[in-house]
Amino acid sequence: MDEVHRTVEGNDGTSKEPHIWASPEGGRDIEIAKQIFCNRSLNMRNIVAVGFDMDYTLAQYKPETFESLAYEGTIRKLVYDLGYPPELLHWTFDWTYMVRGLVLDKKRGNILKMDRHKYVKVAYHGFREMSKEEKVGTYGSTLIRDSFDEPDYALIDTLFSLAEAYLFAQLVDFKDKNPGKVPQGADYARMYKDVRAAVDLCHRDGTLKQMVAEDPKRYINEDTSIVPMLKMLRDSGRATFLVTNSLWDYTNIVMNFLCGGRTMHGSDPCNFEWLKYFDVVVTGSAKPGFFHEDNRAGLFEVEPESGMLLNTDNGTPMPQVSELASYCCFQIEILILVLMQGGSVGHLHKLLSIESSSQVLYVGDHIYGDILRSKKVLGWRTMLVVPELEREVELLWQLRDTRRQLRLLRNERDHIEDEVHHLKWSLNVSCLLSIALLHLSCFSSNKQAERDKVRITHQQAQRECHQKFHKVWGQLMKTGYQNSRFAHQVERFACLYTSQVSNISLYSPDKYYRPSEDFMPHEFGILPL
Ligand code: IMP
Ligand code: MG
Repeated sequence: MDEVHRTVEGNDGTSKEPHIWASPEGGRDIEIAKQIFCNRSLNMRNIVAVGFDMDYTLAQYKPETFESLAYEGTIRKLVYDLGYPPELLHWTFDWTYMVRGLVLDKKRGNILKMDRHKYVKVAYHGFREMSKEEKVGTYGSTLIRDSFDEPDYALIDTLFSLAEAYLFAQLVDFKDKNPGKVPQGADYARMYKDVRAAVDLCHRDGTLKQMVAEDPKRYINEDTSIVPMLKMLRDSGRATFLVTNSLWDYTNIVMNFLCGGRTMHGSDPCNFEWLKYFDVVVTGSAKPGFFHEDNRAGLFEVEPESGMLLNTDNGTPMPQVSELASYCCFQIEILILVLMQGGSVGHLHKLLSIESSSQVLYVGDHIYGDILRSKKVLGWRTMLVVPELEREVELLWQLRDTRRQLRLLRNERDHIEDEVHHLKWSLNVSCLLSIALLHLSCFSSNKQAERDKVRITHQQAQRECHQKFHKVWGQLMKTGYQNSRFAHQVERFACLYTSQVSNISLYSPDKYYRPSEDFMPHEFGILPL
């Protein structure tokens, strides 16, 4: 990728220095924050259908309002339904505190960030940072390799989980300081279970959805580039489809807002116009189960006006009370659109005439629910939407000099450390005269002091650099110099990843995405220029 240094013209006609790095695509520069990054070759010419998840993929929620709503709803349920003390009602939520990729240790009340080898690099008990000794004592044993998976651990792998992770940390602190105030017998794991159940209920009982439906603009970012992107894909001959776990009524409200700014009570009320941008719409899909070919979930028709589910299994539609599935065809202009609830991927492939699963590209935000399952189980090609990436790459660019200096400091530390080891070794095996030995030992002590100084300077500089990304957890995709566990999952399961779904329209629909060259450690010293 070329680094492009250019001077850009500001709105006021003055020249401004570009603040980010851009790469050319068909003669146009694409800012790094909007680029699509490639882990695995993907030739768009082979893709016949592009599918989208809705929540946090097409619809980007505003965490400051949406996640706060989830947080407040959860607290009310904890207090009024689950016996937690009313003082929780005064707690506040810092939506910037938690990040994706963290792991909650339910039993111990800890929040962890680990690298790609599952080595715990940052650990907090509630909001208290654990000392190195404590961390190593708890998680450092290489004999017991913990998988850090369910049921003892919970992965914070969707933006929906940030509020529950924050509340868990608050409760851990609260219990430690006021053991008598939490419900009797509630240990950390039970508190996590209560929080999870309360969050789950907020999503299911309409607490959240009702509020979003009343005023979507308050909770969802407007994005006028989504419709042109969908049109572009369809004009290029690709089928488009939507597979969301949200049910029809809510999906209809969110998509109306995204595809035309329509709201329930606005002057231009909700309609079904947006359906024309998709060939198939699946609501209530129950991902990741949906991705299993042998998924037995019933397939139901959705009657868009009433939202009623009609069972078409025996050919004669009949109303269904269950919310689990549906299927229906109706005509919009000359397009045959299929709207269904539930069902499985087999149905979807038939409807889209997909011959091979590698002809499908699915774009989602949930590494487990959208990406890992669709890729591993089905062999769909995948694109992960990572909104955090926008800020992360901009910072990487801004901090490029700092990071260069950090690397030099690290090399210097390693070099002096090697010298010290060699000196110590020489002293041990040496048959030098005592005067020479004295000199060598003195030199070694000076070197050790120098090493300690460089080590501390490097450590502090590295910490400061990470804190620029996030005050507590550092860079999303790194822990120290290693890829974070989150980055590792992105690398393994997402063929492509990008900050926003609409970045797709910045590239040709026939683009051949190719990954950068892999390098192993032995190749770094001898990279071709
Ligand atoms: P998707 O990302 O478009 O597939 O939709 C995600 C749906 O799952 C949204 O309707 C969310 O409200 C819902 N959701 C997110 N977290 C939870 C949960 O913990 N319990 C139940 N539903 C959830
Ligand atoms: Mg989603």
